[in-house]
Amino acid sequence: MEGGYVAQTKYVLQNVEQDEKVKLLNGHSERLAMSYVLLVTNDTTPICIMKNLRVCSDCHTFIKLASELLEREIIVRDAKRFHHFRNGFHVKKLRDLGRVDTPFFSGKRMSCS
Ligand SMILES: [Zn+2]
Repeated sequence: MEGGYVAQTKYVLQNVEQDEKVKLLNGHSERLAMSYVLLVTNDTTPICIMKNLRVCSDCHTFIKLASELLEREIIVRDAKRFHHFRNGFHVKKLRDLGRVDTPFFSGKRMSCS
């Protein structure tokens, strides 16, 4: 992937070769879901993904960079919280820095259905 992404294979716990670890990371459910959404939606729709496990750190980085590269908002709800990415940033961190005026979805009404 462009945008400076380097797979963090230290999060793959299986004892396999490096290339296989990268393939395993690419198979994480949120990445597969994101690929599907990109195939079936237009290029302005925010991407909303829900999963029942936690997002791993590598996917968090991947999705953060993808939000900048694709110029789309991406919201991932995992087992514990919502992760909202925009322009290559995690919005919670932007909010903490006082750089986001709206706390959620940039004023757009949307649902994760
Ligand atoms: Zn992952």
